[in-house]
Amino acid sequence: MASLCRDNAALICIICKTTPFNGNSGGVLIKSKLICFTCEMRIILAPVDDQYYMDFKEGLKTAWNNC
Ligand SMILES: [Zn+2]
Repeated sequence: MASLCRDNAALICIICKTTPFNGNSGGVLIKSKLICFTCEMRIILAPVDDQYYMDFKEGLKTAWNNC
């Protein structure tokens, strides 16, 4: 079964699936998963019933479950 863990690859934001231009210093790490500053700011500013917030929660769930 293929693993979705990417610990040995360049860190990719679990929300927007992109690598911050300055690598893992361009975001925050949560349980070795990266959330880029852009997404961090978006989630801080998003209301809790926003679709983006739902996507964020799904992304976090994926991160928690994969590793
Ligand atoms: Zn992002």
